[in-house]
Amino acid sequence: MRKSKTTKRRTPAEYKNIKCQNSDLETSKYAKYAPIEGPCTEVVNVPDNVERVLCHRCTSRSASGK
Ligand SMILES: [Zn+2]
Repeated sequence: MRKSKTTKRRTPAEYKNIKCQNSDLETSKYAKYAPIEGPCTEVVNVPDNVERVLCHRCTSRSASGK
């Protein structure tokens, strides 16, 4: 008996909201791109397997090199 190949099933991606990793400047690798005023408060919607994220604001700050 042949096992029928399971067709690629698209599991609906699970998303969650997590804070930008610059919300914790002590553990963030990108702390130098955090807002000057202090820890970043941006929340980003990411796939469930993502543990750390840099929000678009910190990302663009890092890209501009400022
Ligand atoms: Zn941020």
